[in-house]
Amino acid sequence: MRKPVIAGNWKMHKLIGESVDTAVELRDLVSNAGHSEVVIAPVFTALRSVADRLEGSNVRVAAQDCSTKAEHTARTGEVCADMLKDAGATYVIIGHSERRQFNGETDETVNAKVKAALKHGLVCIVCVGEDLSQRESGDAQKVVATQVSGGLAGLTLTDMERIIIAYEPVWAIGTGRTATPEQAQEMHGFIRRAIASSHSKECADSVRILYGGSVKPDNIADLMDREDIDGALVGGASLEAGSFASIVNYR
Ligand code: PEP
Repeated sequence: MRKPVIAGNWKMHKLIGESVDTAVELRDLVSNAGHSEVVIAPVFTALRSVADRLEGSNVRVAAQDCSTKAEHTARTGEVCADMLKDAGATYVIIGHSERRQFNGETDETVNAKVKAALKHGLVCIVCVGEDLSQRESGDAQKVVATQVSGGLAGLTLTDMERIIIAYEPVWAIGTGRTATPEQAQEMHGFIRRAIASSHSKECADSVRILYGGSVKPDNIADLMDREDIDGALVGGASLEAGSFASIVNYR
C-alpha cells in the first residue's frame, strides 16, 4: 500500500509573507487530507517561517534543492542538507528539470545531492523526465532509465525507503500540456520495473512515483486512477492555496 504524496513546488515565487499566508490557508483547507502526504516547497528564505506556521499540521515542508556537499564547507551561495533540516524542511526536491536546464545539473550531481540529503535524513523527491525531442525520437524510456539509474546509483534498499521519484516530462512542465494518463502510466510502470531490476521487487512495489507536468484540479483524479501513479508534483497550480487544496482533496 503506497501512501500518495501531493507536493507543490513554488519555484522562485513568493516573498516570506506571501509564502506564510498561502501555507496557512492551505493548512486549513487540507486539514482532513489523511489519505495523502501533503508537501510544499517554498524558496529557501521562507522555509523557517513557513515551517513554524505549519507545525502540528499535516503539511510538510520541502526545500527545492540542496548542495552536493553534506558537510559545512567553502561553497559560497550553497545550502546543505542539515541547514535545510535546521530550517524546518523534511523533504528536498532534487534534479528538477529547471536545475538540469539552467544550472547544468547532471545525473552525477543529482546522485551526489541525493546522498548528501540522505545522510541528514531528508526524504528526496528525485525528478526525471525527457524533453520533447527525446519523446518524439522515441528515446523517452532510454533517457528516463539513464536518469533513474544515474541519480539513484549506489543507493541501498534502506536508502530507497527515503526516495520518491517524480516523473516530469519536460514538455508538460508549465505548458498546460499534460501527459495523458496512459502516457504517464506507461512511464511509471517502466520506472517501477527498472527499480525492480536495480534494487528489488519489494523496493519497486513500495517506492512512490509522482507525476508532474501541468497537473490541475481537473486532471488529477484521472491521473491518480492509474495503478503506478502515486501522487503529483505540482508547479503553477500549487501557488494558490485553493487550487492546490482541490488537487490534494481530489477524491
Ligand atoms: C514542475 O515544475 O515541477 C511542474 C510540474 O510545473 P507545472 O505543474 O506548472 O507544470
